[in-house]
Amino acid sequence: MEHVQHWINGRLTAGGSTSTSPVFNPATGEQTAELTLATTEDVDAAVASARAAADSWRLTSLAARTKVLFAFRELLAAHTDELAALVTAEHGKVLADSAGEVARGLENVEYACGIANLMKGEFSEQASTGIDVYSIRQPVGVIAGITPFNFPLMVPLWMCANAIACGNAFILKPSEKDPSASLLLAKLWQQAGLPDGVFTVLQGDKVAVDGLLQHPDVDAVSFVGSTPIAQYIYETGTKAGKRVQALGGAKNHMMVLPDADLDVAADAAVSAAYGAAGERCMAISVIVAVGSVADPLIDAIKDRLPSLRIGPGDQEGSEMGPLISAAHRDKVVDYIDRGEQEGAKVVVDGRTGRSEDGFFLGCTLLDDVSPDNVAYTDEIFGPVLAVVRVDTFDEGLELINSHKFANGTAIFTRDGGAVRRFQFDVQVGMVGVNVPIPVPVGYYSFGGWKASLFGDTHMYGPEGINFCTRRKVVTSRWPDPGTSKIDLGFPTNGDH
Ligand code: NAD
Repeated sequence: MEHVQHWINGRLTAGGSTSTSPVFNPATGEQTAELTLATTEDVDAAVASARAAADSWRLTSLAARTKVLFAFRELLAAHTDELAALVTAEHGKVLADSAGEVARGLENVEYACGIANLMKGEFSEQASTGIDVYSIRQPVGVIAGITPFNFPLMVPLWMCANAIACGNAFILKPSEKDPSASLLLAKLWQQAGLPDGVFTVLQGDKVAVDGLLQHPDVDAVSFVGSTPIAQYIYETGTKAGKRVQALGGAKNHMMVLPDADLDVAADAAVSAAYGAAGERCMAISVIVAVGSVADPLIDAIKDRLPSLRIGPGDQEGSEMGPLISAAHRDKVVDYIDRGEQEGAKVVVDGRTGRSEDGFFLGCTLLDDVSPDNVAYTDEIFGPVLAVVRVDTFDEGLELINSHKFANGTAIFTRDGGAVRRFQFDVQVGMVGVNVPIPVPVGYYSFGGWKASLFGDTHMYGPEGINFCTRRKVVTSRWPDPGTSKIDLGFPTNGDH
């Protein structure tokens, strides 16, 4: 049995723990590895190495850092297939999807390659007579990133590319369910020339997370995962005086107006609801069908589902893989059961596709889902699409704005005026116009509103640079000794 270890100070280490957690291949249900769970002593060792590395990495020139970033970008691209295979083996998503995850992560690294530009400050010459004012950005120090199972590669790259480019050391605490891709990332960083200790991987569970949240030498915490844990991380981390951004769960609505192209909308709904078995934080899990579009749209989605090929992620032709674990598969089934009991109509029943060898489940389509149905209120995080019927655009907008989650949403229509109203009034962080999964490109920032994000900064892009840096403003004068005098008045700019 393979033992998945930590990566501390540039090498693999088992740490001091004897407690472990199993890693499975979701397509077979077999255990493939055992993960070492960090103790608080392991956390201390990881943070000590990161702290020392941060102190010297911040002295490294922008030119030298940029070189490492470019080299890492090349290595990442060259290892796409290997990384994708690791993700598929432990997460279950199909290989093409895993390769897509690498591609989206690459965007974040490419953005960080422009760090020399991104770290630029502002300069105001002659703010007062003989006085210049300028701002500088400095790294925050040691940043911990705690990541979810559903993007074991992309989400760490959202965080670490900017953090490292800005001159910080970064400690990754990956999901214990699919930890192996993080170790290949560590090796690639090292090959790219990153000094030991700047990128660390700490395998573990709550013990590791709590250790990082309380450690005085961790300056900032970036989190992506479910809402209850995001809230816990935000509250605990900020109480301990750290800068925290914590992204949580989602229930993403796709509103379809009667004038939308039906085939475009149905294809988009199927792709966005069932891709990666619905285990995407930007998956569409609710269709808001406005007026007369409901019946033909539901028929069009229903017609498409039987031909979807569900199978192992590494099998040629598979379009949807298994869920992450048996427990999660059973939780999704329980949601379908409860949704049905609470009045939803099961149009397509994925429960029939449940398998015992491997964590597979079929695609489920629920109609007539009421806003108080558990299949609507809760994040299910599986291949389940709920249709809520509404009579008008306003009713649909009100529905979306009343939900506690507000990560992403989309509108499908040909009506520009409706789109303008939607983007203006919808209370959601990321909006798609005829685009079902509007994950922003790497030079914008990613983040939801309400219970989908705790903290002030979104992830990656310009807001990521803000999160990874502290700003300083310098007011500077180089006086001519001949003009020096004592002046006890408060310094103003008026006459100076
Ligand atoms: P999770 O919250 O269970 O775990 C996320 C991380 O937190 C893991 O590293 C885990 O080890 C750690 N953790 C779990 N329980 C903890 C506890 N009690 N104390 C401290 N740390 C703990 O999430 P998950 O199941 O791995 O991922 C799926 C969730 O992530 C979904 O809710 C999904 O919507 C969300 N997600 C959100 C985004 C986003 O950008 N908003 C992106 C991806 C995933």
